[in-house]
Amino acid sequence: HLQATTTLSNGVRMPWFGLGVYKVEEGQEVEFAVRTAIKHGYRSIDTAAIYQNEEGVGRSIRQGLEEAGIGRDELFVTSKVWNADLGYESALAAYDTSLKKLGLESLDLYLIHWPVKGKFKEAWRALETLYKEGRVKAIGVSNFHVHHLEELLRDAEIVPMVNQVEFHPRLSQKELRQYCQDKGIQFEAWSPLMQGQLLNDPVLEEIAGRHGKSVAQVILRWDLQNGVVTIPKSINENRIVENASIYDFELSGEEMARIDGLNLDQRVGPDPDNFN
Ligand code: NAD
Repeated sequence: HLQATTTLSNGVRMPWFGLGVYKVEEGQEVEFAVRTAIKHGYRSIDTAAIYQNEEGVGRSIRQGLEEAGIGRDELFVTSKVWNADLGYESALAAYDTSLKKLGLESLDLYLIHWPVKGKFKEAWRALETLYKEGRVKAIGVSNFHVHHLEELLRDAEIVPMVNQVEFHPRLSQKELRQYCQDKGIQFEAWSPLMQGQLLNDPVLEEIAGRHGKSVAQVILRWDLQNGVVTIPKSINENRIVENASIYDFELSGEEMARIDGLNLDQRVGPDPDNFN
């Protein structure tokens, strides 16, 4: 079930579930996390140029694929162009740099990391070029509010296939999710566990207890039942396994509604309107 996929607007299949490697150190730490995840059936890895671990991610992908006896085409790899590289030429160059560090011939998904004012449209033209030239399977954005998407779509040739944003029970992004759904943009959650801040929530604890599951599993299951791609981070083998064990139970409509009710429009990361 870990290999279950959503089909993006261009027909490319993306796993619903993957591993995020933000703040995972280059070297042994990231290599262990990625290899362990692949060993336990993960088929999607989310990194970014700014995480400064693409080389280790690349090495561990090669090892992990070999150990699992699977091909590159069975793994979905995402990276992101950083804010400093949001010009047309610089975004193209940033893509080549990421490929080189990862040691890959192409990425499955390349994202604009943040909607830096006055810059993201030029970068989008570069991603469109990469896509049209067949150098990347899918392109998308990250941290885009509705107004950023509207501005982008005014001139875009290609509608982003994905929008990856902060999403968890305290920030449920109802309007943005609906907008993305209407435009055929797959919604993807970052910091789905609110970086650990939700693990003592009494409502989530109660629901978890009922199912004999952990709070992390309940949250990640809520993502899937909402049609949201999710990429929790862990560098701990037990948690890597735990986070992926979410296909053997189902939240009821009432439980989904109670979790929806936890929204406080509260962020752990910056508001995209004030970040560049
Ligand atoms: P997260 O919500 O995935 O939380 C990760 C933290 O939760 C871990 O460090 C660990 O302390 C804890 N944790 C994980 N599994 C647990 C478990 N089973 N039980 C208890 N604690 C557990 O936070 P994140 O890393 O910020 O987000 C996930 C991924 O999203 C990142 O690694 C990155 O790939 C991506 N991301 C993207 C952006 C963006 O701007 N596009 C920003 C932040 C993160």
